[in-house]
Amino acid sequence: MKTVSVIGSGIAGIAAAIRLRLKNYDVTIYEKNDKPGGKIYEFEINGFRFDTGPSLFTMPGLIDELFDEVGQQHTLQYSPLDVVCRYHFANGKVVDSYTDVEKFAAEMNEKLGEPRANIHACLHHSRKIYDLTADVFLFDTIHKFRSYLKPKFLKSMLRIGRLDPFKTMHQRNTALLTSPEAVQLFDRYATYNGSNPYVAPATLNVISHIEHNMGAFFPDKGMYSIVDELVKLATKLGVKFSYNAQVDLLLTRDNRVTHAVVNGQQIPCDGVVSDMDIRKFYTHVLQKKMKGTKYLNDDLSTSALIFYWGMNKSFPQLQLHNIFFAENYKAEFDSLFQTKTLYNDPTIYVFISSKHVKTDAPDGCENWFVMVNAPSVGNKLTQTQIAEMRETILQKLSLALGENIEEYIGCEKTATPESIEFTSGAFQGALYGNSSNSMFAAFNRHPNFSPDFKNLYFVGGSVHPGGGIPLCLASAKIVDSIFDV
Ligand SMILES: Cc1cc2nc3c(=O)[nH]c(=O)nc-3n(C[C@H](O)[C@H](O)[C@H](O)COP(=O)(O)OP(=O)(O)OC[C@H]3O[C@@H](n4cnc5c(N)ncnc54)[C@H](O)[C@@H]3O)c2cc1C
Repeated sequence: MKTVSVIGSGIAGIAAAIRLRLKNYDVTIYEKNDKPGGKIYEFEINGFRFDTGPSLFTMPGLIDELFDEVGQQHTLQYSPLDVVCRYHFANGKVVDSYTDVEKFAAEMNEKLGEPRANIHACLHHSRKIYDLTADVFLFDTIHKFRSYLKPKFLKSMLRIGRLDPFKTMHQRNTALLTSPEAVQLFDRYATYNGSNPYVAPATLNVISHIEHNMGAFFPDKGMYSIVDELVKLATKLGVKFSYNAQVDLLLTRDNRVTHAVVNGQQIPCDGVVSDMDIRKFYTHVLQKKMKGTKYLNDDLSTSALIFYWGMNKSFPQLQLHNIFFAENYKAEFDSLFQTKTLYNDPTIYVFISSKHVKTDAPDGCENWFVMVNAPSVGNKLTQTQIAEMRETILQKLSLALGENIEEYIGCEKTATPESIEFTSGAFQGALYGNSSNSMFAAFNRHPNFSPDFKNLYFVGGSVHPGGGIPLCLASAKIVDSIFDV
C-alpha cells in the first residue's frame, strides 16, 4: 500500500486524509500541536468553553457530502440560524440580518429605508456570480491547462462581465443600494476572507449569496465539534494521527519528495499533502527558491486581535453573532492595509456561542469572543497597544449596551496575530493567506499541486480556492480529484 504523509490537522488536512484513505492509501497526519484542528480550536476556563477561531458555519453540505462519500452515518449535528448577525451601526441603528431573504429585505426596509427590491437585486446578483463561478473557481483547479478547455470554464469566461471583476465590491454595492448602512453591511463580506471591500473585486459579493441564499448554521456542540466528528470518521477509516509531530523538512530526489523529516526522524513517503500555511511551507519545510514561490507576492489577508471574556451576566439584547461597526469604514481598511496599524474606532465582532450551546457558559453567564481586525505584520503588538485596544472596545461596547461591561468580565484570555501564528502556523497571523485585494487574486493563489514536485499537493486556507471552512473542504476535494502518486 502506498503511503501518504499529511502535514497538519487543520480541517482541510483531515478532509484530504479521509478522501485519500478511501482510495486505499496508508495515510498519516503529522500535527505539531498536541491536538487536531489548527485554527479551529477550543479552550476552557472557569466553566466557560471558547471556540477560538471560526464561528460562522456555512455550506455544511460539504461535510454531509464527505460522510456520504464514505458511506457513514452523519454524526455532526447543526442547526440553521434565523438571524445570522445583529448589526449595530455607529448612528445607533440596529439591524438583524435574517437568512430568509424576504424577512431580511423587510428588516432592511423598516430599519434603514432601503427598498426591498434592492436587497433582492443584490442577492440575485450574488447568486448569478455563484452559479457562474462555483464549479470553475471553487470546486476545480484553475491551474491546469485542461481546466481551461472545459465547457463550464468557457461559459464563465464568456460571461466575465457578470462576474464583476472590473469593479470593486464597494463600487458595486454603492450602485445597487441606497442607504450607506446597507452598503457597509454588504461591504463587510470582504472581511470573510480578510480583504478590503474598497479594493477587492466585486466578484467577492458571491459571499452574500452563500450566507443568505444558502444559509448560515451553527453546530449544536460548537465549532470544535466539526473537528471532533471528522477526526472520529478519519480514525474509524484507519487514518493515523501523530501529535507533537512537527515536519521540519522534506527530502527530495529529482522531482519527487522521498521523505518527511518529523521530529528529526526520516519517514519515507510516496506522496505528501501539506495543510500548512503556504508561506510557512516554503520558508520552513522546503527552504528553496522554487517555481511555486511566485504565488506568494500578493498582500496578506488581515489578522485579528481577540479577547475571550467569561461574562458573569447574560445580555438578551445580543445574538449569537453581533457586529458593532466603525463610523468610517474606509478609514478602518486604510489603517489595516496601508498604514498597517490597528484602527482607533474598530468594527467589533462579538460572538457568543453560549447563546446556542447552553453548556458553553455557567448559568446566567455568557462566553464572549470579542474580535477586531488587525493588520498582518511581522512586528508583534505591544502590551500597551493591546491594553489600549481593550479599553477602546470596552468603551464602545459599554456605550452601545448602556452599561459598564468591564465589571462583568470574570475571566479572560487574549489572542494576537503573534499567538495565532504560533498556534496555527499562519504566516504573520494572516487568517486566510493571501487577501483577495486584486482582480487576479483567484489566479494568484498557490495551486493545489506543486509546480516543482510530482507527488506533492497542497490544501487549506492559504492555497486555492481560499480561506474559510467551506473553501478548505473544497481544496481537499480538488486534491482528491488530481492526486496521482
Ligand atoms: C480568528 C479566526 C476566525 C475565523 N472565522 C472564520 C469563520 O467564521 N468561518 C470560516 O469558515 N472560517 C473562519 N476562519 C478561517 C478558518 O478557520 C480557516 O480557513 C481554516 O480553519 C483553515 O484550515 P486549514 O485546513 O487551512 O488548516 P489550519 O487551521 O491553518 O491548520 C494547519 C495545521 O497545520 C499544523 N502545522 C503547521 N506547520 C506544521 C508542521 N511543520 N508540522 C506539522 N504540523 C504543522 C498547525 O499546527 C495546524 O494545526 C477563521 C480563522 C480564524 C483564525
